[in-house]
Amino acid sequence: MSLITEHLTQIRTRISTLAAQSGRPENSVRLLAVSKTFPASDIAEAIAAGQVSFGENRVQELAEKVPVLPSSVDWHLIGQLQSNKAVKAVLLANWIHSVDSLHLLEKIGRAASVNQKKINILLEVNSGEENKSGFRSVDDLKQTLERGLSMEYVEIKGLMTMAPMDAQDAELHRVFADLRNLRDRLQAQFEVKLPELSMGMSRDYPQAIAEGATMVRIGTAIFGGRTYSA
Ligand SMILES: *Cc1c(COP(=O)(O)O)cnc(C)c1O
Repeated sequence: MSLITEHLTQIRTRISTLAAQSGRPENSVRLLAVSKTFPASDIAEAIAAGQVSFGENRVQELAEKVPVLPSSVDWHLIGQLQSNKAVKAVLLANWIHSVDSLHLLEKIGRAASVNQKKINILLEVNSGEENKSGFRSVDDLKQTLERGLSMEYVEIKGLMTMAPMDAQDAELHRVFADLRNLRDRLQAQFEVKLPELSMGMSRDYPQAIAEGATMVRIGTAIFGGRTYSA
């Protein structure tokens, strides 16, 4: 068995156990394999091991990988997106996790309607000083959500966050619980369903699942260390 296959098997088991421990169905957490910086051959190996959803954080890298891999791959763009790359992002990915301004959402919405391509969106919430990305103002987030709900080809599916790099156990639980509570308030206020919470990476996915993550974005623990941090 290859290392990637072995890691995937271990992580899937761990995710099922953690989901069950938090009182949810074992399949209620989607595993996103974050393949940024890794070659298409590694992704092909993960696909052979049954992995379907992959996360990339740069549009350019996505553009290189999409054409050389099976069309059945479910691609997620998880990194910061410049609005001038919105069209490409919409065409390449099924999901964009990193929408953090109304301006960016407008660009995505326009690209999606022009191309008549449905795009699933998560609004990114800033959870730490050192993270540059994500909404910092709940008012801006609400305004963007409201606008997104009126867009024909845009499906606002939920929220995404990244915990601060140095956060320890208690703070991780607090950050992830905050995102879930914010989601619950938005659902009530706008009377919409926002089922997805994209939170948790290699180092903190157990805490994220305990607090309700429906998608975990895991790179290092599957593919190994990256030679540059993207
Ligand atoms: C790189 C990245 C991940 C995965 O991080 P690992 O620590 O390698 O699991 C998750 N989310 C985002 C937004 C990333 O850029």
